Amino acid sequence: MNRFSVTTSRPYDILIGEGIIGDSGKFIRECIKPCRACIVTDSNVNHLYLEGVLQSLRDNGFQTSKIVFPEGEHSKNLPTYSNILESLAEEGLSRSDLIVALGGGVVGDLSGFAAATYLRGIKYIQIPTTFLAAVDSSVGGKTAVNLNYGKNLAGAFWQPSMVICDYKTFDTLPQEEILNGVAEAVKSAMIMEQGLIDHIQAQDYEYVIERCVSIKKSIVEADERDTGMRQLLNFGHTVGHSLEKLSSYNISHGAGVATGMVVESRAAYKMGLTEYDASGYLTEILEGFGFDLSIPYTLEQIYKYALNDKKIKDDSIAMVIPEALGKCRLHRISLEDLQEFLRLGLE
Ligand code: ADP
Ligand code: ZN
Repeated sequence: MNRFSVTTSRPYDILIGEGIIGDSGKFIRECIKPCRACIVTDSNVNHLYLEGVLQSLRDNGFQTSKIVFPEGEHSKNLPTYSNILESLAEEGLSRSDLIVALGGGVVGDLSGFAAATYLRGIKYIQIPTTFLAAVDSSVGGKTAVNLNYGKNLAGAFWQPSMVICDYKTFDTLPQEEILNGVAEAVKSAMIMEQGLIDHIQAQDYEYVIERCVSIKKSIVEADERDTGMRQLLNFGHTVGHSLEKLSSYNISHGAGVATGMVVESRAAYKMGLTEYDASGYLTEILEGFGFDLSIPYTLEQIYKYALNDKKIKDDSIAMVIPEALGKCRLHRISLEDLQEFLRLGLE
């Protein structure tokens, strides 16, 4: 097992190992003394991993309860968030108690936001069970729900007390879910560490999670509140989020980001912002992983949704520009230029 410390406003440890989920209670007890622990999970993970975590928490002196909501991105909304808060209140969870987020990114984001706001903030633990959540969303303390108007539009920064990542849980993931993690891992490789690509292709999860977590950790430590270099992590996401939303989430986050990285790279090159055109290389490796990179929408549709991006500030948006494999920089473009940027990328 591997352990990292993340030194954000509230420092915490990330544990990565195979088959460690059954010891969750023991690990949690290292940082939180026995209290009431409410596990929040979804309808799939409930049947797969809940019992083991509950048992381990009980064995370590925690009093347990659970909240289960229907699986899927469509649950990541205000009604589910509100139900979770009401259930926490009904159970009488106090400020010294704990929320345990057991599941993928949807569970992590919803329970994290509930933890950030219930009683003005209580502690929570992340136990990511998807590759995507392991390499991306469980680290960094961003929590959110979607609004009808767009993804992640309401949320808070709230750091977990610990992240316990057991990649044995990926054994039960459908291939499409594995691809979601692959897209984010390729993104990390593109912005920081080209050598990671080989390990992703070899499905070397332990190494890939460790490196992605370290990369994200170094970026988050330098920029916890996402005002500067943390925006590098948005590579592919402006176009990716538009595609997800336009398709009513039928295009997965991974497929959106994969296509987005290709489009944004091509645009950056054609606009003369870099001498390096990453789009050919990205297309080849992403198609090799099995991504469908086709775009069933027009420039106008994509531009319209891109304008809702919450990264827009002072009528401009920071785009991530690949300068070489494993090296990217940020470049602000005006909203007027964004349309031209997207046009060039979609050609
Ligand atoms: P994300 O891709 O952001 O992590 P979700 O939290 O929606 O998204 O998880 C994607 C889907 O995978 C959901 O249907 C969820 O119930 C399911 N899931 C999560 N973890 C596992 C697992 N280890 N095995 C099988 N299915 C899982
Ligand atoms: Zn992402």
